[in-house]
Amino acid sequence: MRATIYYRGALSSCNYDCPYCPFSKNVDSKETLKRDREQLSRFMAWIREQGKAGHELSIFFNPYGEALVHRWYKTAMIELSHMPHIRKVAVQTNLSVKLDWCAELNRDKAAFWATYHPGETSEERFLGQCMQLYRRGVRFSVGSVGLRGSFESIRSLRNKLPEDVYLWINAFKDRGNRYTPEEIAELEQIDPLVQLNVPDYASKGLACRAGEEVFYVLGTGQVKRCYQDRKVIGNLYRDGLEGLSQPRPCGMSRCGCYIGYIHMPSLGMDAVYGEGLLERDPLVAHPSATG
Ligand code: SF4
Ligand code: SF4
Repeated sequence: MRATIYYRGALSSCNYDCPYCPFSKNVDSKETLKRDREQLSRFMAWIREQGKAGHELSIFFNPYGEALVHRWYKTAMIELSHMPHIRKVAVQTNLSVKLDWCAELNRDKAAFWATYHPGETSEERFLGQCMQLYRRGVRFSVGSVGLRGSFESIRSLRNKLPEDVYLWINAFKDRGNRYTPEEIAELEQIDPLVQLNVPDYASKGLACRAGEEVFYVLGTGQVKRCYQDRKVIGNLYRDGLEGLSQPRPCGMSRCGCYIGYIHMPSLGMDAVYGEGLLERDPLVAHPSATG
């Protein structure tokens, strides 16, 4: 079967200090890092076996924290990007690390979801990192949380990125403090697709690929239905994909996070993002790039 796996190990630390994040400047103990490395090693061993069973996989690393400061994630990405039964390997990252290792990635399969955190890095430094990926021909999207105080810095970055690099904005909606129509219009000038991220989509009872073709796997092998529905639906290493996969209508009332709602067939997000769905790189990056 064709499946997408979101993977999150024991890691919960980051080299950045974003005020809106619980993992900022968290430091993992040696034991936790060892556990994270061993968990990833087990996951990789499992993946190596899946080609024989005829499975084709897309992998997305979405750690609690920053994965790429650790060598084992870079090594895993390189290896995965060269495996015939892997369709895509992507990582959510603040893009703070040196990128020389990217020369070893298979550019047809590796991708980055790079988040810009103004206040934690300079625009010049972040842009320099993006341009390294761009020059290497590695697929990536760039984005930021649409905090009201960040509109200017996000716009400035947009203006300096190549037009064919997509910049997404995550609508800030955690505190029920919704944007005004004027603010949405302003954000749309920067991210033409921002409206797709503004709603919390009504989802209860609707079809969703999470739990059938999309799985949220923890380092222990426990599998959750999705980022929001925390019910454990099985164990990857015990049940395998066939044992886990079941059509399941959504049990949550709303779905407002990109890594979840893109898997609801009724929203038709595949048509917008095509092969870049996982790393949020749409078919058309910027309105002026259509011509
Ligand atoms: S870069 Fe990401 S993980 Fe790190 S502190 Fe900021 S939001 Fe949290
Ligand atoms: S629609 Fe969202 S909340 Fe519901 S199962 Fe899918 S990913 Fe989870």
